[in-house]
Parts: sequence; structure tokens; C-alpha cells
Amino acid sequence: MTHSAPAIVILGNGSLATARKIAQLYPGALIHGLAERVEGADRVYHEFGATLRELYQQDTPIIALCAAGIVIRTLAPLLLEKGAEPPVLAVAEDGSAVVPLLGGLGGVNGMAREIAAGLDVAAAITTSGELRFGTCLLNPPDGYALGDLELGKRFVSDLLAGEHVRIEGAAPWLAQAQLPQDAEAHLSIHVGSAERAPTANELLIYPRSVLLAVSAGVADLPQTIRAALRQAQVAAQSLACLLAPATEMASPTLREAALELGVPLRFSSPAGAASEMARRALPGATIIPIDGHLALAIAEQPLNVSQIGQPRGRLAVIGLGPGAAELMVPAVKAELARATDVLGYETYVRMAGPFRPDQVLHCTDNREEMQRARHAFELAAQGRSVIVVSSGDPGVFAMAAAVLEALHESSDPAWHSVELEILPGVSASLATAAQAGAPLGHDFCVMSLSDNLKPWSIIEKRLDLAAEADLALAFYNPISRSRPWQLGRALEIVAQHRRPKTPVVLGRDIGRPGQTLRVITLGALTPEQVDMRTMVLIGSSTTCVFPRAEGGDWVYTPRWYGNKPLC
Ligand code: SAH
Repeated sequence: MTHSAPAIVILGNGSLATARKIAQLYPGALIHGLAERVEGADRVYHEFGATLRELYQQDTPIIALCAAGIVIRTLAPLLLEKGAEPPVLAVAEDGSAVVPLLGGLGGVNGMAREIAAGLDVAAAITTSGELRFGTCLLNPPDGYALGDLELGKRFVSDLLAGEHVRIEGAAPWLAQAQLPQDAEAHLSIHVGSAERAPTANELLIYPRSVLLAVSAGVADLPQTIRAALRQAQVAAQSLACLLAPATEMASPTLREAALELGVPLRFSSPAGAASEMARRALPGATIIPIDGHLALAIAEQPLNVSQIGQPRGRLAVIGLGPGAAELMVPAVKAELARATDVLGYETYVRMAGPFRPDQVLHCTDNREEMQRARHAFELAAQGRSVIVVSSGDPGVFAMAAAVLEALHESSDPAWHSVELEILPGVSASLATAAQAGAPLGHDFCVMSLSDNLKPWSIIEKRLDLAAEADLALAFYNPISRSRPWQLGRALEIVAQHRRPKTPVVLGRDIGRPGQTLRVITLGALTPEQVDMRTMVLIGSSTTCVFPRAEGGDWVYTPRWYGNKPLC
């Protein structure tokens, strides 16, 4: 079973040395350190329990450098839920003990041995089968699937009770195991791709050695594929991937079929008849044509799917939120983990990191938006998994529109076949508003004051009408060195419609180190108080301010609207 890189979770600086040693064993492993206690971690967290549970639910292997009891108590509420379980280990902070806790079928004992070897100690393995046979029979390596877990458990307990076993088929990973083998044994481990009825005296392990090529236009694909496998007497568990013509890349039918069958989808070009595609993909395999549209290729060994055809490329335009990791949506975190290529303005790419050594970073200047969008499609069309990074939300004065414009302009079918997704983020106006209270609690208007991409006359007109309409206002890109006078002019226009005591919120570097939040009035606002890292929120006629107990002010715009303002 393949998992993502593990998370190494530590509570104090005392564990850092051990954590770093373990991190060296797993490329891509990140050290998560408790805020204000750990310096130099890859990720900072604030709440141990919530962090551990989130990692567990995302199926991330967890190596916690703390007492086993803490980990058990923290994850206990989640343990009764069914579903896949990532490996979870507790490691003594000085590296003197390695205790596998959960995820026996996810390879936790193997990880415990690897970590123990790295730390030069013994792993605290307690699994009987593992201890006796030196392997977990119910957790075959990548490329193999166990037939039935419940039957398997009984099989292993029979072996532990003293039964002997014989091996049928190729099981290279068992060569090192200490199994009580006997050619005459009643029990057998059977490795093969042929369909077999499960019985109590056979541990069935299926190599993922079968490819199914499908040409085009097959109705009810998952059913048809299952029927084809049955007809050829091939076990569904041995199906390693579907292969389809590259021209069918965007087909939802194919995507859903692959999802339902739980196998990856690969694409072949040039297109051709199913049996021809199958033969080209796996030259040495046995080809079984099913009908004009389907063909099976059966190999001796598990397939290396990454070398068959190409996958459908993916392009995700993501929003990081204002900066703080807690304000990044989980879908974006998952996307960052799966990306092969990351494009964006260098500051944002750095904010999105750290990245693994195998992830390629393409940092560019902030102004080359269309060029960056085209580059992203070129990479994705090669089958890569590409991310374009924006701060805040990618659809708010950021990369999403440029990416769609580049696609709209293109007639390249390979670009249009890319799986494109826009993942939202918390935009600066919303992050700033939340810190101030609810200044955007009623109707509001969002504007960029930059006249780089639109005429200033349009900006003036919109400001005038929005201010007249008594909308609260949120200004992005309020000022810059090359646009020094525009904000002053904008404030003059707003002042024609708003009282000088109208509340104003200035949020600078919100969600980032050194953030500042100020509440002032329109009358007191001057362009010198604002720079390009500032969000300017201007209240409407009903926006109120009152003091907070802990100092500072709350700002809100009530939901109701009337002519008897409270403030
Ligand atoms: N896509 C981004 C906005 C990009 S425009 C988003 O949705 O937030 C850049 C402008 O956004 C900056 O000039 C500034 O006005 C504002 N901004 C971005 N991040 C900010 C932050 N962390 N704090 C305050 N303002 C920010």
C-alpha cells in the first residue's frame, strides 16, 4: 500500500535532532512543530490534537515524537470509524524507542523497522505473524492485492497455530520470509491473476498485472469491463490500469469508470484498435481481444503503470489564503502535495512551500501572467500535475482569469483535455474583515485601484457610483510606487458621498508575520498610511465601531438597512 510522505510531529526543540534523522529516511517528510515551542520546523501547528486527527483523516502516516499514550488518547475518537488507516508510530524523543501503534495493514511494522535501523535501536514489534514469519502476509508489497482480509486473518492464525504452507505462483517478496513451508501442506499462498473462488485454505494474492485497453464509445463501461474480466476468467483485483486513446482524455465516462474500478487511467497516442493499443503498451504480454472495443493484456509481473502511455494532465489554480497555514483550505494542501510542477510569483511559491526535491518550481515575475498561464498548460498537456499559485483567492485579481483566458484563446486539443480545477482561498478582504469584526456584513463592492489593466476613468466612475450606492468598499492594490496619486484621488471621490467619521479598516500583511490592523476614519485616512501590502476597507453609512474588552475596536456593518443608523 502506498502512502504519502509521513508527517513527523514534535512538541518541543528537544525532539528536533531525532526528527531530522527520521526525516532523512523519508524524502518529502515534513517536520510539524508546535508554535512557539519549536524553531526550525517545516510546518507550524497550534493544536496537537486537531493536527494529529487531521493528518490521520487525510491518511498521512504519522510519526509522533511523544508518549504512545498521548497519541492513543488523541486518535481514540477516530479509531472506531471504518476506512483506511495510515501507519501511526510513537518514537521516544531521544530516539531510544520506536513503537508502531496503528496501521498494521498499512505497513507500520516495516516503517518501525526502517526508523529503528536509522536510529540504531530495535523496533517494538508486537504483531505475532510479523515476528514469527518476518513479514505481514496480509500486507503484500506494492503491485499486489490481498484477496480477502477476513479469510486472510484466519489463514494467518492457522499458520501461527502450527500449520504448514506451500507457495503457488511467483511471490518474490516472500523469499526472505521464515514461513513453515512444506510442498505437501494443506494451506497454500496462491499468487496469480486468474479468478479463483475464495476458500479458507488458500491465501489469494493477486498481482496487478493486467491492463485493459478500451478504444471508444463503450456503453456502461464498468459493467462491460467486469463482464470482460469474468469472460476471460481474470480476477478484478489484478486489473492494474485502463488504457484509452489520448483523444478520449476528457471523457467523463472513462474517468468515472476508472474511479469506480479503483484503477488509474492512462492514455495512448497514437490511437488505435484496443488490441493494438494493448500490444503496444505491453509488448511481451498475452493479449486477449474481447470485442472490437476492449482488449486485455496479461503480464507475468505487476505492471509499472507510470511507464504505460501518459496520464491525463492536471492544472490546478490555487489560492493560498492570506498567508497563515490554518487559513489554507484542505483541498489546496492536498493539491500542493500531489503537484509535480509549481508556477507562480516567487514570493507566493515560497509561501506555498516547502516542497519535495522531486517537485519542480518555476518562479516568474509577477507581471508575466499570460505567459505563465500558457506555460502551465504546456506542462499539464505533457501529463504533469501542475499548480499555479495565487495569494488569497485565485479568482480575485489573480491567476484564475488569466489561465481561463489562455485556454479560451487556444485551439490546441491537448490544452483543452487537461483536467482544470480552480481551488478557492480566503481573499485578503475577507481575512481582513474577519479580524476587524464584520465590516463587510452588508452589501459591499470589491475593487482593484490598479490602472495597469484598465483605464483610470473606469475606476473613477465605479468609485463614484459604488460610493453613491452606499456600498461598503474593499480596495485591492490601493497604491504602489508606480501609482502614487491614484489612492488620493479615489478617497476624494468617496468623500463626496461619505461622512468623515465613516469607519475605515487598514489591514497590512494580514495572516503573515508582522501583520497590523488599524481602525481609523475616512477623515483621518491619508495615502501615506497605505502601501501595496495593505487592504483598505471603507464602511457604509451604517458601519459601526465599538471598543473591545481586550483593547482596540470591533467594526461591523449590520445586516439590516434603514434610515435610523445606530452609529
Ligand atoms: N488574490 C489576492 C489579491 C491579489 S491583489 C486575494 O484574493 O487576496 C494584491 C492586493 O491584495 C495587495 O495589493 C493588497 O491590497 C491585497 N492583499 C493581498 N494579501 C494581503 C494580506 N495578506 N494583507 C493585506 N492585504 C493583502
